[in-house]
Amino acid sequence: MGTKYQFTCRQCGYTEVVSGGKDCGMFAVVKTFNCYNCMKTVDVFVGVFGKEYKDIANLKKAMGTTKEIIKDFRKCPECLKSDCLVEWNSKRRPCPKCGGKMQKGKEILLWD
Ligand SMILES: [Zn+2]
Ligand SMILES: [Zn+2]
Repeated sequence: MGTKYQFTCRQCGYTEVVSGGKDCGMFAVVKTFNCYNCMKTVDVFVGVFGKEYKDIANLKKAMGTTKEIIKDFRKCPECLKSDCLVEWNSKRRPCPKCGGKMQKGKEILLWD
């Protein structure tokens, strides 16, 4: 899979390991969002094979019939809702808890 980073909020100390933007693994494409239901920064599944999809119909066409993964397409992986997601601005890097800026920390490689 791709590379993730540890981000830590300078104001409240909230820390999370996410890709911090758009990231392509072998199969899945993920993008970082803030979930204001969970109050967390999360990586959301948005596409496959290096391409991002807005529409689940196009995604299904691209990936065949692997239904397993589709359930969290463009949804928070924790609460499975979509209306609480706000795309993470990789320059401002807002903390979902206090609105402070999150600092990029060490790189975490995923051996998947
Ligand atoms: Zn914070
Ligand atoms: Zn959530």
